[in-house]
Formats: sequence, C-alpha cells, structure tokens
Amino acid sequence: MWLAYQDRLKTKQKLLNMGMIEDNICPICCTQTETKDHFFFSYEFSRQYIDMLRQWLKVMWNVRSLKDLYRKCCMPRSKVKVIEAILGNLVYAIWRARNEVVWLKQVITVRRVFVTVKQESKLRLSHLSWSRPIHNWVKEL
Ligand SMILES: [Zn+2]
Repeated sequence: MWLAYQDRLKTKQKLLNMGMIEDNICPICCTQTETKDHFFFSYEFSRQYIDMLRQWLKVMWNVRSLKDLYRKCCMPRSKVKVIEAILGNLVYAIWRARNEVVWLKQVITVRRVFVTVKQESKLRLSHLSWSRPIHNWVKEL
C-alpha cells in the first residue's frame, strides 16, 4: 500500500523527467538525486526512524531501513496491519516535512516528524476495530 503511494510522489527526479524543473537535487541534503528510494530508504533518516519505531513499538527488528522493515516484517498478521498503518502515516509525514523544506524553507527534525506520526497514528488506530489483544496493544502505544 505505502509502496504504491510512494510511486505517486512527485519527486524532483520525476518532475525533471517530465520537463517541469531543471534540477533533481534533493532539497534536504543538497548532494544526491531526489528519488523515492533516496527519501525513504537510503537516507540516514530512514535508520533513525527505524530506531524510533523500535523503541516506540517495543519490538526487536533486525533491519537497517524502512524497505527491509516492510519486507521482513515478521509478526502476527493483526500486528502487521497496525505496523502497515503506522508506516503509511510515516511515509506521509516524511513527505509533508520534505514539502515544508521546499515550499516554506522550514526544516523539521526527524524527532518532530516522529512525534507527529505517533500522535496521528494513535488517533487513527483508536477509531478502527481490532481484536482485544491488538486493541490493548494500540491503547498502550
Ligand atoms: Zn537528500
């Protein structure tokens, strides 16, 4: 779901391919091409988000990037649905933070993005119906 969502993101590389802009340099690090993979997977931020997710969800993942996490997510199915929802919120929040850099020239820290993801995820997840154990797990997050 979130991988499909990322393919719709108008990264600078995509806009350059469409002839709409003149450079494809990432607006945050200013050193590499801005592609979805750069943003969500190769970025050093990706690892920081993994660490924060580990701490928050109290799970032990032996992964180094969001991509690995998505591939190797080995948990009960019902928990995977919660994780997927959170990853969807994370992708959206990272992209929103990137847009604030581009349009408002405001840099938002990784920690600030993550706090927003936690708040929004808890709110959204609390409105969905889950089995009792998952409901309790979500409630304690
Ligand atoms: Zn960059």
